[in-house]
Amino acid sequence: MPDGPIIEVRNLKKVYRYGSVDVPALRGVSLDVAAGEFMAVLGPSGSGKSTLFHIVGGLLAPSSGTVRVAGQDLGAVSDAQRTEMRKRTVGFVFQRFNLLSTLNAEENIRIAQHIGGTQGDEEHFEHVTRILGIRHRLRHKPHALSGGEQQRVAIARAIINQPSILLADEPTGNLDSENSLAVLDTLKTLNDSLGQTVLMITHNPDAARYCASSTVRMKDGRIDGRDEQAT
Ligand code: ADP
Repeated sequence: MPDGPIIEVRNLKKVYRYGSVDVPALRGVSLDVAAGEFMAVLGPSGSGKSTLFHIVGGLLAPSSGTVRVAGQDLGAVSDAQRTEMRKRTVGFVFQRFNLLSTLNAEENIRIAQHIGGTQGDEEHFEHVTRILGIRHRLRHKPHALSGGEQQRVAIARAIINQPSILLADEPTGNLDSENSLAVLDTLKTLNDSLGQTVLMITHNPDAARYCASSTVRMKDGRIDGRDEQAT
């Protein structure tokens, strides 16, 4: 792993074209996420959080500015290298879990191992599924799991290839308060005990306060404030 921040964003801008109208979503965002940090990006709907998430994850191209992830300049790499990065360097968790409904929990995680080329690492599989508290649910298909369990399977899938950064977009957005707390506890544990670096997008200040070590607040496509906090 190269020295320096895991994520380095500089003067990032994104303008969407909507019909004949330009919609500025990011108006010059700069931030660093250090190894081992748990950063929350907080802000109201429309402030540009998802756009930032998608660009940092290599899912969307910026209009201008630079993003380095684990030392790689996303603007300078080939499509093949970007695809490789999405398989191994970054783990994604979304609000809607996105589990494959015809596969059971274990198969959903195994398929990520297969894609990442880490199949056969049984020790890590056991460790991850134990930490996430899902070992007794591995044979169940998503429809037989609670929302919180589905999200914990999705988190297992996201970290099974030991990514440098876990990107979570509103990971509790589809959950009731009890399941939300369980998922936030899980993310906090991964950060505390495995040193997993996390960047979490949320509109919920309580979720940010509960588990993040630092928070940036977004407003109208800009960073409007930053806090370091004791959780
Ligand atoms: P957030 O995640 O904070 O809700 P977004 O990044 O989704 O914010 O959106 C930021 C701005 O960009 C909003 O004004 C939104 O309407 C606009 N936007 C997002 N996606 C698109 C798109 N695909 N086309 C046009 N405008 C978009």
